[in-house]
Amino acid sequence: MFDADFFRRWMTATAASVAREAERLTALDSPIGDADHGSNLQRGFTAVTATLEKEAPDTPGAVLTLAGRQLISTVGGASGPLYGTLLRRTGKALGEAAEVSAEQLAEALRAGVDAVRTLGGAAPGDKTMIDALVPAVDALGDGFAAARAAAEEGAVATTPLQARKGRASYLGERSIGHQDPGATSASLLIAALAEASEA
Ligand code: ADP
Ligand code: MG
Ligand code: MG
Repeated sequence: MFDADFFRRWMTATAASVAREAERLTALDSPIGDADHGSNLQRGFTAVTATLEKEAPDTPGAVLTLAGRQLISTVGGASGPLYGTLLRRTGKALGEAAEVSAEQLAEALRAGVDAVRTLGGAAPGDKTMIDALVPAVDALGDGFAAARAAAEEGAVATTPLQARKGRASYLGERSIGHQDPGATSASLLIAALAEASEA
């Protein structure tokens, strides 16, 4: 079972990983975007960890809804509302339980990813964060390590794709040959889930 502390560790590990990889995320967003993805997410997750420390929510659902709200209010780019929706919707699906099972977590994350798809209109293969999130959720039944591997593979597999959503889509065929920044950060989010479970 996973308690509020586990979800706090997930968010803290994501913030640390995003801070470590911020330059790389921004560099990926340079040829097919506006070179701000790393700084966008670093600002957002710094705010998330600060708020979680201050408000100390005591259920898994409350940790994620608060984190999601914080991302929406601090990240200006497309990724803020999308990741914010992911976490808020996942948190809402977890309800008010003090502890949740791996199955409940997987089911809630599926609802979160579905909400991102509804909000952004992206399907698998459109070269977005969805290309890492969907395989991760599909693999979650086999454990966090399997989900991490699936997300990383999904992110790498965006390279030959042409973007059909977001800024990168404005480039048409010129978006081909570059790994999607949002799929890359989504793989960091899922890797942090595995990290939190190993702690
Ligand atoms: P912006 O493009 O507004 O500067 P970011 O650079 O922070 O925002 O985030 C860009 C990432 O957001 C993209 O790499 C892509 O993965 C993701 N993204 C953009 N639009 C969508 C969408 N409609 N659905 C899903 N993901 C999207
Ligand atoms: Mg950008
Ligand atoms: Mg931007």
